[in-house]
Amino acid sequence: MRCNVPGRGMQYEKHAMTCQPENKIQVDRRWWQPVLDFILPPRCVLCGQSSGAVCICAGCWTDLPWHGPHCLRCGLPLGSVRDKICGACILNPPPFTRTVCPLLYEFPANRLVRSFKYKRQLAAGRVLSHLICEYVAVHEVPLPAMLIPVPLHKFRMLKRGFNQAYEMAAYAGRTLDIPLLANALRRRRNTPAQSGLSRKQRRKNLQGAFYWHGSVRPAKHVVLIDDVMTTGSTLTECARVLKKAGAKRVDIWVAARAVPANRGGADTAISQARHPRAQPSAL
Ligand SMILES: [Zn+2]
Ligand SMILES: [Zn+2]
Repeated sequence: MRCNVPGRGMQYEKHAMTCQPENKIQVDRRWWQPVLDFILPPRCVLCGQSSGAVCICAGCWTDLPWHGPHCLRCGLPLGSVRDKICGACILNPPPFTRTVCPLLYEFPANRLVRSFKYKRQLAAGRVLSHLICEYVAVHEVPLPAMLIPVPLHKFRMLKRGFNQAYEMAAYAGRTLDIPLLANALRRRRNTPAQSGLSRKQRRKNLQGAFYWHGSVRPAKHVVLIDDVMTTGSTLTECARVLKKAGAKRVDIWVAARAVPANRGGADTAISQARHPRAQPSAL
């Protein structure tokens, strides 16, 4: 696993798979960060207590809604750790190969996402991206040759002032030393929310909403980054566009996975109880 060690350039370190994932990756920090930390000591984005560089305290990190055994392809919960892929993905494989989603989209993960997206709390975004990087390091997830953020429509970009997926991809790219390609995957239509629509309606709603722009082709193995995977239809459509543009393998990295009511319940509760809870590398 490649690790970005600030001040020493990129170093390469092999990590064994373990349920004690402390210190798997270094926190991405700029040269001016120690000065800023001195003036404004980092605080936990959830409870406000003092924290390490990741801006989440050990207690809040432990209390995050960690995702238990889930389908490696679509990220939905599975009842057993023995299963790797769910029946739906076997019958109807999506255009992406693997979904990395360390959290369930439940409290307080949803609070982190809302603070990041709607209150411009960039520290919350760094926590979300750090979660992905930790998961990737601990589970030895194959690294792609390129990270691509899910694009935001220009109107929504103007309203929000930033693309949350880009911010997360930039952090992950610096931390894991993976090139980032922004602006090649583009959104031509501002589509309404997908939740509440049927699968067919969602597909129709997103048809032609994304396109590949420019002469650079996507790498053979690329990762699409976003904050949350809800219905999965946006990421599915983006993955289709990337495959059409030349990518051979597309993976999805999101901080949290929303689970439909009929896929959660007891299985999720059981899986969470069985799942060892990770610790952050630099609190
Ligand atoms: Zn806290
Ligand atoms: Zn699946």
